[in-house]
Amino acid sequence: MFALRPGRHADLAPIALGSHLDTQPTGGKFDGNLGVLGALEALRTLVAAGYETNAGIVVVNWTNEEGARFAPAMLGSGVFAGVYSRTEADSIADIEGVRFGEALDRIGWRGETKAGAMPLSAYLELHIEQGPILEAEDKTIGVVTGVQAVRWYEATITGRESHAGTTPMPRRADAFVACARLALEVQAIALARAPTAVGTVGRVEVEPNSPNVIPGVVRMTVDLRHHDDGVLQDMEERLYAAIERIAADGKVQIESKKLHDLAAIKFHPDCVAAVRAGAEALGLSRRDIISGAGHDAVHLSTVTPTAMIFVPCKDGLSHNEAESATIEHCAAGAQVLLEAALALDAKLGGAR
Ligand SMILES: [Zn+2]
Repeated sequence: MFALRPGRHADLAPIALGSHLDTQPTGGKFDGNLGVLGALEALRTLVAAGYETNAGIVVVNWTNEEGARFAPAMLGSGVFAGVYSRTEADSIADIEGVRFGEALDRIGWRGETKAGAMPLSAYLELHIEQGPILEAEDKTIGVVTGVQAVRWYEATITGRESHAGTTPMPRRADAFVACARLALEVQAIALARAPTAVGTVGRVEVEPNSPNVIPGVVRMTVDLRHHDDGVLQDMEERLYAAIERIAADGKVQIESKKLHDLAAIKFHPDCVAAVRAGAEALGLSRRDIISGAGHDAVHLSTVTPTAMIFVPCKDGLSHNEAESATIEHCAAGAQVLLEAALALDAKLGGAR
C-alpha cells in the first residue's frame, strides 16, 4: 500500500517512509505498526505545516513482513526489490491452501501497478528495537547502521547404537555426546566474540531416542550470526575445526552442510548520517546499533539508499502481546524519521 504526497519536482523520485501492519498470531501492537503510523504522522505534519518537499513523500505498508501466514517473511518488500517475482509470490499458499494472490484479490489490494515500478530516492523505516540494548543503556534513538549476517548449518553425527547397560564407556561411539560437545563449542565460538556474535543450536533430533540405547545418529542445526562477514567467516572456520576434532575424539562421523548464507547489510552512509543528525538536532540520546532481526529495509537497501531508526521497547520483548513502548519514545522516533526525511530531501535539492 502506497500513499504518495507529491513534491515540488515531479522528476525527483519520492522518499519512502514505512514498515508493515501485519503481525504474528500472538504479536504485539508496535512491531511494524509504529513505522507505518510514524510515517503517516510525519506526512500529516508536513500537510498541517504546509511544507512542500522537493521530492514526493510516500508512506508504505509492506504486505506480509512477518511471514506468519505466507512464508517467507518480508515478501512484499522482496517482490518490490525483485528478490521474488510476482508470480512466485502469488502462488505461495497458506496453511489452508489459499494462495497469496487470491488473498490479495479477496481484500481488493492486488493492484495494477508493476511491483517495483516506482523508483525511490531513499527509504527510511522506524521500528521498535525488539531487543534490550537501548532500554538497558537508557538511549532514546538507535541509529541502525546495518543488519547482521546469518549462516545456518546442519550436522549429522553418526556413532554406534548399543546397549546402555552392557557397553563399557571406552567402547562407545555416542552421537549425542558429540552433539553436546559441539553445542558447547558453538557457545564458546560466539562467547569469544561477545557481545556482538551469537551462536545457537536450536534443533536436535536423536535416534533412536530411547532411554537405554546409546544414541546412534543425531541431526542438529547451528545458527551463527555477526554483523561483519569476515568475523562470521572466522567463526565458521572454528566451527568446522571443532567438528573435525570432535569427530576424531568421539569415534563418530560428522557430515555438515550449510543451509543458509545471508551476508551482512550495511545501510547507506547518507541515510544513516541523516538519522544520526536528526537525533542530535532534537537533543535525543542515541547510539549506533546493528539490527539482529530482518526487516523490509533489508530488501529495500538493495534498490535504494536505506536506513532504520530504532526506539526502545519494554524489557526488549517483541513477538509477544506484552510488547510495549512509551509514547515519548514513539514520538521521538517519528520526529527523527521526519527530520531525516527532510534532510535527505534538502540534499536532493531542486529539479535536475
Ligand atoms: Zn517488524
